[in-house]
Amino acid sequence: MSRVDACPACGGRALSPVWRVASVPVHSCLLLDSEAQARAFPRGELDLRFCEDCGFLFNAAFDPACQHYSPAYEETQAFSPRFVRFLAELCEDQARKYALSDRFVLEIGCGKGEFLLALSERTGCRGIGVDPGFRPERLASPALSRLTFVRDFYGPHWASLAPDYLACRHTLEHIGPVAEFLAAIRATLGDRPDTVVMFELPDLRRILLERAFWDLYYEHASYFTAGSLARLFRRTGFSVLALWRCYDDQYLVLEARPSRTADGPLPPLAEDLEETRALVAAFRTGVATKIERLRARLAAWRGKGETIAIWGSGSKAVAFLAVLGLGAEIALLVDVNPHKWGRYVAGTGHRIASPEELAALRPDVVLVMNPIYTEEIGRALAARGLSPLLVPMR
Ligand SMILES: [Zn+2]
Repeated sequence: MSRVDACPACGGRALSPVWRVASVPVHSCLLLDSEAQARAFPRGELDLRFCEDCGFLFNAAFDPACQHYSPAYEETQAFSPRFVRFLAELCEDQARKYALSDRFVLEIGCGKGEFLLALSERTGCRGIGVDPGFRPERLASPALSRLTFVRDFYGPHWASLAPDYLACRHTLEHIGPVAEFLAAIRATLGDRPDTVVMFELPDLRRILLERAFWDLYYEHASYFTAGSLARLFRRTGFSVLALWRCYDDQYLVLEARPSRTADGPLPPLAEDLEETRALVAAFRTGVATKIERLRARLAAWRGKGETIAIWGSGSKAVAFLAVLGLGAEIALLVDVNPHKWGRYVAGTGHRIASPEELAALRPDVVLVMNPIYTEEIGRALAARGLSPLLVPMR
């Protein structure tokens, strides 16, 4: 397959290799009905490259043709109380900043619709949510009368909607040609400088700092720091209103409005190119050691006859298992989303179990794929009379 040889964010050619994994599952949130199907799931290559000019990182081997988003896609984190609290805080923040009552909101990549619904409940906004993975039966609220959800990809046929506020959360990182995508959105906003756009996505800075290789996976073709994200928005004809980190520094949020020029000021957080170059260099040399240390820890627990489970069966777990090549070493994958129970993750084919099933297993060690859930997982285990060693992955 041909490789992307110019930066999809700035067009620059000063690209340096960062990390390569020859074979990983092309999806991590599509669940399978059998272990055999899960193990035979299509694979692709990670060939991560860093743009020295703008600080963007991307998978040069990404092939969008192998990505199939559908209602079978289980990405939601909304079964976690911690995540629900985060959504409420985000809605509260946006409601305080922007008068959205009776305004028209468009959400691109709305997933199962939790954010748009919460925003409408809080502000009274009207809205349309677009996502190929939307499931109408999951939502119930009087606010639904103000909202329309469409199972579709965002494309030129949605361009005439003229929203007052456009949200796009955890979607841009799934797109390969990011500048093209953003320019298309900018074109639809035309000469309406009052439109607010709000993007939320993972922050590459934390991934590099923690050498969190399990946060680098095929579904995510594109990785931004605060600076590379803000620079792309400015280059595409937006002025950046706000830029901040949230969710224990895991996510970036950027708010912007259309601008006639492409040279406005950027927030201080965007001054990160030197730091990002250094972090990329440290990741490049340090990731192999991180992987070896984890292998050694797992082997030591296994050597003592201890049972190891993983809490969290989303993309992080799939990437973690694939890179470490783990099989029977991990006894169980646990998830709080009941729609995942009894199904299998792509790649290693581990089956996903409920917390009740984990309680019956009585594990000695539980790896927590997202440290932000450690407290709530600890409580869930304690409520079932369990006190295994909890190991937050960072
Ligand atoms: Zn670039």
